[in-house]
Amino acid sequence: MMGFFIGLMALVMIGHSYVDYLNYGYLKHPSRLRTLWRNGLLRLWGLSFTIWFYLNSHVFATTTALVMPLGVMMMGSIAIGLSTRRWTMRNLPGYVWLELKDFLKFAFSLIIVALVLVGVFETRLFSSLWQVMFFSLTALALIYLMIYSVILPRIFRFIPYRMREEKSGLFLRYPRINHTVYMAQSNKLRLPMNALFMAGIKKLRVVLSDRLLARLSSSEIKGIVAHELGHGAKHHLWVRALAMVGMIGFYLVLGQLVFETDYLRQSFTQFALGESLFVLMVLLYSTENIAVVLLYQLTQYQEFQSDRYAVELGYGLALAEALEKIHRYQPDPQEHPLAKKLGLSHPDTLLRVRKLKEAAVK
Ligand SMILES: [Zn+2]
Repeated sequence: MMGFFIGLMALVMIGHSYVDYLNYGYLKHPSRLRTLWRNGLLRLWGLSFTIWFYLNSHVFATTTALVMPLGVMMMGSIAIGLSTRRWTMRNLPGYVWLELKDFLKFAFSLIIVALVLVGVFETRLFSSLWQVMFFSLTALALIYLMIYSVILPRIFRFIPYRMREEKSGLFLRYPRINHTVYMAQSNKLRLPMNALFMAGIKKLRVVLSDRLLARLSSSEIKGIVAHELGHGAKHHLWVRALAMVGMIGFYLVLGQLVFETDYLRQSFTQFALGESLFVLMVLLYSTENIAVVLLYQLTQYQEFQSDRYAVELGYGLALAEALEKIHRYQPDPQEHPLAKKLGLSHPDTLLRVRKLKEAAVK
């Protein structure tokens, strides 16, 4: 069983290396082969460590068994990040910090899940898994409501935005649309030209960043609004919530496997918390990568669906023009198409433009 998950981990690492290979080829970087080799060796080293640790973990005390794999994962991830950059002694600390931040973000989610699972399965806080499901869903719903009705309005100060009405599917289907569109100041946004669909309990909001509004024509803005409303009309937030339920259920199954079944217990001479957490980390690493790729396929599908909705409302070409403009100011990362398909939450902007224009011709 454990062999299966370590094998899966190896497959995920081979997948990462393959995507790197495609990307380097795509960018035609002169030192791409050297980087590829270096990263491949680093991953191999991480994998060998995992297997070695799995076989020898009984030698270590619980805290060592906890800290060591995390430390090695951290060093490996930083080394891989640095090997793809051209660093000098001067800019090295900055790059190390950048990679460390990236790693901590990844490790944080892993550790949170691991801690929750330890809490659920070791302390017997809940009497059944259904209770766990219920509590985690309530917590998620509360966090969502907090973010959308308390935190975001505080950060952004939404200013109502009025569009000039015209005879089109958009204003026919949404007669009160002008009361739901807002402008938000964008110096705090990661992508300054951005739009957001938000749904509260009763109210729905389409939020457009000020920089987006400043650069788009009035019909292009309506195209973006039509797309955002598509997220609501096609119940995308609900589908994502459902995907979340699936995710939680999946984590619970992993926890059950690690903490409740005898099979894994038999594979260690001494089975303590350190070992269970290590096994959990391997499981999470090997499966989370796959889960995220699947989630991205869902969100990419939803983007195309919303684009089609904008076409239905009569704003397909306007949306295409808006996306082209956004792409000019805010280009997509330069990566091989397959890397984008697997690693981005949104589809390639120019691919969306092409599809929108095709739909408009029909
Ligand atoms: Zn969208």
